[in-house]
Amino acid sequence: MDIAYAGYSPKLIFGQFIIEVFVPYMTRRMTELSGRMDLTRMHAKFEAIFELTSLLHFIYFLRTGGHSTITESILSLRNWNNNQPTISSINYDTQNRELMWHAFRDVILLTYPFIDKARQKVVRKQKLARKFSSRLGSYDIECVVCDKPAVIPMVGQKCGHMACYTCVATSRKMTCPLCSENVEQMEFLAKKLEDGERGILVNQ
Ligand SMILES: [Zn+2]
Ligand SMILES: [Zn+2]
Repeated sequence: MDIAYAGYSPKLIFGQFIIEVFVPYMTRRMTELSGRMDLTRMHAKFEAIFELTSLLHFIYFLRTGGHSTITESILSLRNWNNNQPTISSINYDTQNRELMWHAFRDVILLTYPFIDKARQKVVRKQKLARKFSSRLGSYDIECVVCDKPAVIPMVGQKCGHMACYTCVATSRKMTCPLCSENVEQMEFLAKKLEDGERGILVNQ
């Protein structure tokens, strides 16, 4: 694109190479060689912070121009067009920047509704889960027979023991598998909750 660092001392160019290539490579290599988890985690954290700062810096660059990366900011380097600008030629540098800024902004504006929708979906799910767990309330959701979360949960009418429908049905009698036989009738938890809710509505 005919863009280069023009008119800067080799020292500055070398400095940029050190900061952008050598330092990240060496720190990564050292943490890898040390094999320490805390160092690796710290390195990842620093890298994430640097990436975020770079992104913010780039957005700032798109809006206002100037240095395109942090390193360029520190060393006050700048890309210039190799061709000497003439009065008749258009300054494409600014136009490109403007174009990128608008593309970036449009992408954000376009994707925001989708992100928002996804977020709302998650929030709705969490609300539903909270509501369901509060309705279950005192019930232990583990089956007393198989010790796993009850599938199609049934609950003892008085004892409140929870069991899967399949675990209850294998005994051929719809009674609590834990309490003495033929004493505690089991009923579906869903039905009980529904009845309970209707009861609350009636009582109000
Ligand atoms: Zn079970
Ligand atoms: Zn029971």
